[in-house]
Amino acid sequence: MRGLRRFRRWCGARRRGQFALTVGMVTMLTGTCGALLVAPNWVLPKNRADQLGSAQHVATDDPRLTAVRGIMEPFGELTALRVATGDGPESLVVGHSGQRAEMAVLAAELAPATASITELWGTGWARSALVVVASNASEFAALLRSGSLLAREVAAASVADPFTHGTTPTGQRVVFSPDAGRRLSPDGLRTVLRHELTHIATRADTVDGAPQWMLEGFAEYAAQRAQRLPFAEIAPTLTARLRTGDVPADLPADSAFTGSDAAAAYEQAWSACAFLAETYGEPRLVQLYRRLAAGAQTPDTEDRILREVLHTSRPDFVRAWRGRLSAH
Ligand SMILES: [Zn+2]
Repeated sequence: MRGLRRFRRWCGARRRGQFALTVGMVTMLTGTCGALLVAPNWVLPKNRADQLGSAQHVATDDPRLTAVRGIMEPFGELTALRVATGDGPESLVVGHSGQRAEMAVLAAELAPATASITELWGTGWARSALVVVASNASEFAALLRSGSLLAREVAAASVADPFTHGTTPTGQRVVFSPDAGRRLSPDGLRTVLRHELTHIATRADTVDGAPQWMLEGFAEYAAQRAQRLPFAEIAPTLTARLRTGDVPADLPADSAFTGSDAAAAYEQAWSACAFLAETYGEPRLVQLYRRLAAGAQTPDTEDRILREVLHTSRPDFVRAWRGRLSAH
């Protein structure tokens, strides 16, 4: 094993019960362990079996499992669920018997989540993912190659091998925390999965230093777009503030996405992206993401890109977005 390089906190979402904080990081994965995957045949509860859709129980030597089974097997026997999600390799959901309920929810959600993200982003990504569910805090940290245990507020995270912008990312996986199934409703799990899958889909086009409001807002927009929930349900913190006349002065700064007020930053970022999609259409939102996510931005370059893509200045865009918020 080689060392962990924390990339940056570029993923995150908090919702319902202040729990869906997610983090992203780049790790060096080890490719070791020849232990065979033990895959007992689960008998899912009837209601869960219905949710499972096309997922199947598998005992497999899929090479994508190599990186995780050496980490996970010491914590108990593994089972993998296989789900067809695209033209390429099937997606996998891997975990232990104690997490079978949330694994079933995630497996059933993978195909529609992949389809929804592909509809928005296009087919230029693997459309196949490895999703793992940890059974305890130590396993969660190990799966993320984190040297220390993560905060209990972290529901899920995505990791990848280090890669050069413009190349195809490898070693990507979404890791759910041991508390995710207990603290999130099935709908909450589905939304977090879609958020993290969006980071996986867009990873090749996303560079460290890109504005967090774009990265997180886009992931949350992608997670929410098919559900069409009311504004107040997606953004309760922002809604409460707007009711008191507290309208954000600007798009949230990168520093706002960590710390005690992160929920507000994520909600503001989502609302900015929802406003972009509503005003300019989803293709232009995607175009803007690709431009802004391609490198570190200063306010000047952000302004230039907004002019080129939206034909409006950054101050004018912020003014229009704030006006839309005020109308709520
Ligand atoms: Zn995120």
